[in-house]
Amino acid sequence: MIRHLRRLTDRLSAVPSHPSRLAALTAAALVVAAPLPAQAGTPSFHCRNGYVGLTYDDGPTPETTSSLLHALRAANAKATFFNTGTAAQAHPELVRAQQRAGMWIANHTMTHPHLTQIGEPAAFNEIADTQRVLRRITGDRPTLFRPPFGETNDQVQADATRLKLLEVLWTVDSRDWAGATTAEIVAAADTLQPGGIILMHDWAQPSVDAVPQIVNNLRKRGLCPGKIAFTPRKIPYSDIFFHAVAVAP
Ligand SMILES: [Zn+2]
Repeated sequence: MIRHLRRLTDRLSAVPSHPSRLAALTAAALVVAAPLPAQAGTPSFHCRNGYVGLTYDDGPTPETTSSLLHALRAANAKATFFNTGTAAQAHPELVRAQQRAGMWIANHTMTHPHLTQIGEPAAFNEIADTQRVLRRITGDRPTLFRPPFGETNDQVQADATRLKLLEVLWTVDSRDWAGATTAEIVAAADTLQPGGIILMHDWAQPSVDAVPQIVNNLRKRGLCPGKIAFTPRKIPYSDIFFHAVAVAP
């Protein structure tokens, strides 16, 4: 039924300028799935309610990265991978696989330290060295940075800014790192609001298994996986703010 509806909505978004056909197809879509609000004339029917950021930290991981990429590609979804420099150095072929799969590759430090506790220049070097490693492997300089454990302060933010990196925290924690089940991870993703960003981990098999349901549920809500970009808005995180949201890829 979902597949059928998606075929209809593909056709819908393909013919936005033809009102009568659009109306007919919209009516057909409503018959197929009554709970879905149909908004004829919206440019992209699939993503009519906006975008969310799927993020996977701590990779690449020999046991899981390939199956995660396979699941994302099968769901036609893109995600942001916050890799560590040490894992990237150990498995550059998996970083290149992420890149080939169209994923966004981002900076999660070299060794995953508590950046707010190691002082300078150690904190700066953790981030700067990762930029060099990822650039050497991919040819591109990452633009996004996530501090390990979500631990940041003015100094860490200044380091990121000096390296032209946007600091990215999250609005939803899947708690896959704490042993959440696939059902719990899917339920967490169901709470994502437009523009929101969910924390998951490259190494967490339940998060790999959650991909099809996460993406299906997002699509039912008119939300699509997107890329992460700067916003002047203050996005609350713990007792601070960050400036990143998910937008159209
Ligand atoms: Zn991490």
